[in-house]
Amino acid sequence: MKFATRVVQAGLVTDKSTGAISTPIYQTATFRHPALGQSTGFDYSRTQNPTRKAVEEAVANLEEGHAGFAFASGMAAITAILMLYRPGDHIILTEDCYGGTYRILDQLFTQLGLAATFVDTANLEEVRSAIRANTRAILVETPTNPLMKIADIRSIVSIARENFSHPLDIIVDNTFLSPYFQRPLTLGADMVIHSGSKYLSGHNDVVCGIVVTGKPCLSERIGFIQNATGSILGPQDSWLLLRGLKTLALRMREHQENAAKVANWLKKHPHVTAVYYPGLPEHPGKDIQEAQASGYGGMLSFAIDHPGLPQQILRKVKVFQFAESLGGVESLITFPSVQTHADMPYEMRKRLGINECLLRVSVGIEDADDLIADLEQALSK
Ligand SMILES: *Cc1c(COP(=O)(O)O)cnc(C)c1O
Repeated sequence: MKFATRVVQAGLVTDKSTGAISTPIYQTATFRHPALGQSTGFDYSRTQNPTRKAVEEAVANLEEGHAGFAFASGMAAITAILMLYRPGDHIILTEDCYGGTYRILDQLFTQLGLAATFVDTANLEEVRSAIRANTRAILVETPTNPLMKIADIRSIVSIARENFSHPLDIIVDNTFLSPYFQRPLTLGADMVIHSGSKYLSGHNDVVCGIVVTGKPCLSERIGFIQNATGSILGPQDSWLLLRGLKTLALRMREHQENAAKVANWLKKHPHVTAVYYPGLPEHPGKDIQEAQASGYGGMLSFAIDHPGLPQQILRKVKVFQFAESLGGVESLITFPSVQTHADMPYEMRKRLGINECLLRVSVGIEDADDLIADLEQALSK
């Protein structure tokens, strides 16, 4: 079946006894055993819950993976992945990654003995030369946040499969494109992570995270960590994620169409000095994007010609909401240098171009004309 059909079928008739079309919310902590040594398949809701199981299976299916795991947040999902590694291990990450991913490594996991190197994953030579004898994983974001740099997933996979003494896990944070546009496991990656708070749920109404594994041995290990540490997604939030997921195909098409219109309009604005959107013909890595994904998504960033203007824009927008996060039906605008990327050292932000002239936009599904008119009035003096 095609993607748009599979996404609508998510969790369909999970409850065979009633035939309920919408997956029931199994608001229960525990389950009755039929007899000693017997189980319905559900024993305790930290280990597994039917509502959570429905959404885990749905996302695993969409990512074409072996198994899915739903967590209390995207950061809980990333934590579970990082717990696969041991003190003394080394991992490589995309340098302009989600600010929280940078922070959890910089301020938590490196204290626990995990070494991390942040590189430009759009540059394959940088990736290759960062690999050491103790490197165990490469965590890639593509397109990156907020500069929309494109990493070549297939090439990074083949670098990782070169003759190193240990196999490296390739993990892709697929939050920005969702499986509608990009399915990293089909490109050879080992695991995919999502902040489900973004496009997967799509309505800015739930915080959740997902891991999808590509093979049984990883499923076993992530399943163990999920049950052992317990940062699971509850039944109510699992239901919200499932409900949001059903319109993923529809939403992603609209997000992309609107983002392309906004990007093209911004490009012509006299105060705009750069537009970062993978769908623009001049965007670096556009050919790689087209070879590994079926679209460009709904995220873009732009730079303006003087540092006072962002404050004015954030104050004047009416349709766009000045708020963190992304991927919901509502258009949001953020100021990465003081918000999402505040925990990144100033020098690193400066080198990457995450400065006081850069704004990031999550283009929603409103009418594109209204979005453009809103930016036009916000940008005018
Ligand atoms: C938001 C986000 C996260 C963190 O997810 P939460 O659900 O907020 O914990 C991780 N990666 C990316 C790319 C994100 O945008």
